[in-house]
Amino acid sequence: MKKLIIGNWKMYPAGVKEAREKFVAIKKVAGTLKNVQTVVCPPFVFVGDLKKLATGHRCVLGAQNAWIENDGAYTGEVSPAMLSSMGLDYVIIGHSERRVLGETNELVNKKVIAGIKAGLTVVLCVGERERDTDGEYMKYIANQIRLALVGVSKKDLSNVIIAYEPIWAVGKNSIHPATTNDALEVTILVKKTLAYLYGKDVGTVPILYGGSVDAKNCAEFLAKSHVDGLLVGRSSLDATIFGEILKSAEKVK
Ligand code: PEP
Repeated sequence: MKKLIIGNWKMYPAGVKEAREKFVAIKKVAGTLKNVQTVVCPPFVFVGDLKKLATGHRCVLGAQNAWIENDGAYTGEVSPAMLSSMGLDYVIIGHSERRVLGETNELVNKKVIAGIKAGLTVVLCVGERERDTDGEYMKYIANQIRLALVGVSKKDLSNVIIAYEPIWAVGKNSIHPATTNDALEVTILVKKTLAYLYGKDVGTVPILYGGSVDAKNCAEFLAKSHVDGLLVGRSSLDATIFGEILKSAEKVK
């Protein structure tokens, strides 16, 4: 399976010209890599413009969020059907930076279902705020997965990717990066949780790690944590660093 490297641009860059330049530079590297699927998730407003530049299948666009309905009086929201109609394949759902704005597990679940129905591949983000020595965080993550997947059939799981993003390791306020062992432990937990929910023949649901990934640590996460790819925030906004991450991923067996 190709390594899946997703760049979450968050609410950057400030203007469309810069967004274009970054995307073109990333695409140039991504287009040369056979073993990596690159996805760039820009702010919604840049999607239409960048879509014109997204020729070829090795570097595609995704969205950072979507609403639970396909139309209606939801001022300021963007529907999964709209994203699909723009030719997008991926949508990030349940990112910790959205959960902190009030997105509950119940809303995340509705968004997961709406995204799948619209034909998008949902990148479901889960992760604990802090770790305790009793392993409560494991229950917390398993519960997030269970609640996000209520009503999602085994067949629909083929449109789901799970991204483990420990909140304490995500973004510029991160306390410290996770270790490859931290990520490995949760990779196993995700697999066990899916097997518990769907049975042992659950199939392959790709698992990503995200949280302070950079050009130095990316290869280690891919090689040692048994993940299928990475969700990259800040480092995806620097085309040179993101390019290095993509090239490293290409080399990991
Ligand atoms: C993210 O926003 O999903 C993320 C992982 O951020 P960062 O890489 O900046 O920690």
